Amino acid sequence: MPREELEQHDFNGLGITPGLLKRLQALKFEHPTPIQYKAIPVATAGEDVVGIAQTGSGKTLAFSIPVLQHVAASKTMGLILLPTRELAIQVEETIRKLAGASGLRTAIVIGGANPRPQIRQLRAKPHVIVATPGRLIDHIEQGNINLHNIGILVLDEADRMMDMGFAPQLELILQGVPDQRQTMLFSATMPKAIADMAQKYMKSPLRIEVTRPGTTAENIDQEVFIVHKDDKMALMERLLKEYKGTVLIFSRTKHGAKKIARAIRLLGHTADEIHSNRTQSQRQSALRGFTNGKYRILVATDIASRGIDVKDIELVLNFDLPDQLEDYVHRIGRTGRAGKSGKAITFACPDQKREIYQIQQLIDVTLPIKSPSGEAMDPIKPLASGQRSSSGGSYRRGPQGRGGSRPSQGRSGGYTGNYPKRSQSGSQGGRSQERSGGSGSYGASRPQGRSGGSGSGSYGASRSQGRPAPRSADRRPKQRP
Ligand code: AMP
Repeated sequence: MPREELEQHDFNGLGITPGLLKRLQALKFEHPTPIQYKAIPVATAGEDVVGIAQTGSGKTLAFSIPVLQHVAASKTMGLILLPTRELAIQVEETIRKLAGASGLRTAIVIGGANPRPQIRQLRAKPHVIVATPGRLIDHIEQGNINLHNIGILVLDEADRMMDMGFAPQLELILQGVPDQRQTMLFSATMPKAIADMAQKYMKSPLRIEVTRPGTTAENIDQEVFIVHKDDKMALMERLLKEYKGTVLIFSRTKHGAKKIARAIRLLGHTADEIHSNRTQSQRQSALRGFTNGKYRILVATDIASRGIDVKDIELVLNFDLPDQLEDYVHRIGRTGRAGKSGKAITFACPDQKREIYQIQQLIDVTLPIKSPSGEAMDPIKPLASGQRSSSGGSYRRGPQGRGGSRPSQGRSGGYTGNYPKRSQSGSQGGRSQERSGGSGSYGASRPQGRSGGSGSGSYGASRSQGRPAPRSADRRPKQRP
């Protein structure tokens, strides 16, 4: 995020208690990110929020601050649901750091870990539970916890939880928490299933969008190499010599990740791998080693990578294209986080031009294309109808659907908008209004419920009747890579 944008505001005036303001200062958070600037005043006022924001946008603090304030003021518990263990661990750490010496107790409830310490934490009456849905349900079924005292619920990375097949567990949990509660939902994209869930289980949530679904941070320099499958390793070897900082490499499959990591180690680099064939402690150790510099290179699959929040990743290398189009955005969001510039390189086989075209449509950017030797090639344009790539058209659609009818916004997404003016309010509703006022991407609107009007007045919010645009619903079978 450009520094000058961050520095326009500080955390004062967002409804944050003096104690937490002090903690933020101590943790050296000086300027709120756009999602924080917009979500915190609404959520600390007790309202439901739907936040459309990617990882890297600062959404963890955007919900952690309201959760802490809520539980401190109400004697109820907070429940934060996340799709992966890694993400849950990071969020719990953030909560603990924010809480400081306040005496707040947390419980972390994640699959793949010994349940006994979790049971102990749950019995100790935690103020905040951070959980993945499957394990939480296990504990509910075993009577280790009930949800009767949940006063604030956060669903983070809701789209990913749906992708991972957690919809039934989420339904159960949403039905089990009291009606009298506050709910915050964050998602990078807004497929129909999530919009429906928000409508069913939330109270007139204010919709806050800091990036259009599927957009990428503008401070990431992206390029694509068209390279035959058999030549990928050699090209990777060259790039690993060229880029001497931390490198995160994405493989489509866990077997691929293993193979790539082994090849990299044979080249003499330090590398570890993170995918679902590894145990929780191996995954943690890989992440820790990558964070503290023991490993310069980490090879990951998409789902396993979700919680990776390592600062200063120099290069994200997509060794393979992702299975799901939207994952391109999540992958490259690992570099260029919180105001830093980053680099993302993608390998595509000559018969994957359609997929690259679809990614371009999703992110609204024409990507620079290179040959394996680094020479610039012609940009990728739509293929003539009837011409099909090797994937036979089975490639996942982005939020706007295949073939992308979305009009170009002339921007690459990310944090390019201005902060909403505090006095600004809108009443026209719909997407165009959400993008008005010069912010392009920071609009806020009520998806449903309250009728249009002058908005809240305090953060440039518009209350619209418009539901988020439904996205293609065809989902791949649930499978952990
Ligand atoms: P998140 O999207 O919550 O995963 O946050 C991404 C990264 O941005 C994390 O490393 C945070 O520590 C960092 N971050 C969050 N909020 C701020 C802020 N207001 N100023 C600077 N960095 C932040």
